[in-house]
Amino acid sequence: MTEGFLLVLSAPSGCGKTTLLKRVMADLPGLVFSVSHTTREPRAGEKDGRDYHFVQADEFLEISDQQPSGFLEWARVHGNLYGTSRQDVEQRLARGFDVVLDIDVQGAELIRNNADPVSVFIAPPSLSELARRLRGRGTETEESLRVRLAGAEKEMQEAGKYTYLIVNDDLDEAVESLKAIIIAERCRRRRGKDGLPAAGTD
Ligand code: ADP
Ligand code: 5GP
Repeated sequence: MTEGFLLVLSAPSGCGKTTLLKRVMADLPGLVFSVSHTTREPRAGEKDGRDYHFVQADEFLEISDQQPSGFLEWARVHGNLYGTSRQDVEQRLARGFDVVLDIDVQGAELIRNNADPVSVFIAPPSLSELARRLRGRGTETEESLRVRLAGAEKEMQEAGKYTYLIVNDDLDEAVESLKAIIIAERCRRRRGKDGLPAAGTD
């Protein structure tokens, strides 16, 4: 069986990454979402184990201290800790799934330095539209909104380091772009070493 690949997605908060990803995952089989651990409080409607593993800081630090680290990468984002479970990801890649990591620009940099991911940066059409979407979602306090919008411009400066860029203006178009990237990468990577069809495909 061919190993799956890591699909790293980053975007300023409120850009529409979760919405986009849900649509793509409903359409494309063979993709699994890596559920991160976080110390942030759950938002209304979020479910433990589905959206995140919500943990206290001491539990998070215990996992990060395991040798080798229980996290493939972890980072402090907007004042909270977020990390990707190493074991979950490695097991699913070995089973042939393409694993989606919804992680920030610091985590993406760490993954790029240690693995060979396909990375996609999702940008908003403008910062004012980003603010409108984030407010419209109605999940953030004024302070949390301020922190997220302040981070957005800095995060955008990292976009050039990603394999692909999608501007999430029209949602349907963004969905088609992300699906096209995944399908093309599957064609590019799922070949034998000689470039011919991998063994076992007859
Ligand atoms: P993220 O996961 O990047 O923080 P969300 O997926 O929660 O962002 O989206 C933030 C808000 O923007 C949601 O209310 C969502 O419905 C809306 N949204 C997402 N994509 C678009 C789009 N292309 N056009 C308009 N609104 C959008
Ligand atoms: P939110 O709190 O809005 O769900 O996520 C805030 C930011 O944390 C987003 O940029 C999201 O991609 C990022 N994030 C979520 N999980 C992880 C993770 O496991 N590692 C890292 N580095 N960032 C994460």
